[in-house]
Amino acid sequence: MGLQRFSRWVRGALTLRRRQSILVAAFLLSWAPLQGAVGQGAGQAADQAVTPAPGFDLWLDALRREALARGVSARVLDRAFQDAAPIEKVLFYDRRQPEFTQTLWSYFERTISEARIERGARLLREHAALFAEVERKYGVQPRFLVAFWGLESNYGDFTGGFPVTGALATLAHDPRRSDFFRAELFYALGILEAGHIEFDRMQGSWAGAMGQTQFMPSTFAAYAVDGDGDGKIDIWGSLPDIFHSAANYLSKIGWNGEKTWGREVLLPADFDAGQAQLSIRRSLDDWAAMGVTRVDGSRLPRVDIDGSIVLPAGIKGPAFLVYDNFRAIMTWNRSILYALSVGHLSDRIVGRGPLAAQKPAGDRPLSRDDVLALQTALNRLGFDAGAPDGIAGSKTRAAVRAFQAGAGLPQDGYADSALVAAVTERAGRL
Ligand code: CA
Repeated sequence: MGLQRFSRWVRGALTLRRRQSILVAAFLLSWAPLQGAVGQGAGQAADQAVTPAPGFDLWLDALRREALARGVSARVLDRAFQDAAPIEKVLFYDRRQPEFTQTLWSYFERTISEARIERGARLLREHAALFAEVERKYGVQPRFLVAFWGLESNYGDFTGGFPVTGALATLAHDPRRSDFFRAELFYALGILEAGHIEFDRMQGSWAGAMGQTQFMPSTFAAYAVDGDGDGKIDIWGSLPDIFHSAANYLSKIGWNGEKTWGREVLLPADFDAGQAQLSIRRSLDDWAAMGVTRVDGSRLPRVDIDGSIVLPAGIKGPAFLVYDNFRAIMTWNRSILYALSVGHLSDRIVGRGPLAAQKPAGDRPLSRDDVLALQTALNRLGFDAGAPDGIAGSKTRAAVRAFQAGAGLPQDGYADSALVAAVTERAGRL
């Protein structure tokens, strides 16, 4: 059975769950940049006993029968599930919760190193002919492909050490998000069946993100292409396949090769921080009229495009004006910090300067306990932060904005230690 047919039946099975699956996919992808650090960082994670759910062998037998009925060959299934057992390390990573939130600065220190910038610049030159061919075909500027490549796998260094089908079978058997991973597992079997990659080389992250682009199997099925014309799509080892696939994906999710991603800007002193939201889009002329300038104080470009202001470190940190390509990056990975890293790294590898804003002396990532205390205090004060979970998501940010409005503070929705102290102090007075 070809990959196309696989895609069709997995899509059918997904219809009802599609929305949920996309959300889960986005959640998972938002962890992609952490994968390179997973090995080293594991010791810092909250350790918990991970016991696989019982009945794996029976579950696998049923899955095998279904796969056979759908045309996966016994040869592929025998190879993929030889000695298969739940991988406890996969469950450990799935359960693990980071102890600290990332700040823009701590994130950029990890994603934008001098070594990564220099190597990216060198690779851009080294593969110039291939990148030019890909740009002609898909309209994606080479510097962005290099930036994705650098962030996803450090230019191919880290593609994850887990067997993809084993990791996905572990997560599909586990009850937490089994529908999503079961669908991904069928896509992965389809990739093996189609002969794109041998089983031994089909390695990925603990969550099944594969190869140098860290595509989930469903993303591979929908967007990966054969760039070198050998009839196989090898995102593990073929640079033409890797760059053609990444560029094809970007072009399909709305990339505009004539435009950039955005830029760091300066805001006027009286700027309303409540305007800094991705949901608020204005023309560059409108932002210019409100006093937004380039970082050197000069006027914004006179081009007819929309943008949004984002303040990833609050009103005291750097401000960015981001365009539609930034939204495409966020389709690839829903994290704002990831999207800013792709944009900034793409600038740096073509020789543009570092951020104009400086890291403040007191920059300190919040711990889970800090965020739990913040959420609990916001709820006590009547600002709905949702059930406290130690993760500052959109609901927490909205509650922070509401608190800031009541307290006469700039409404940037950004929680730093000063904000946590102010909120908990206020709640303590109740
Ligand atoms: Ca190929």
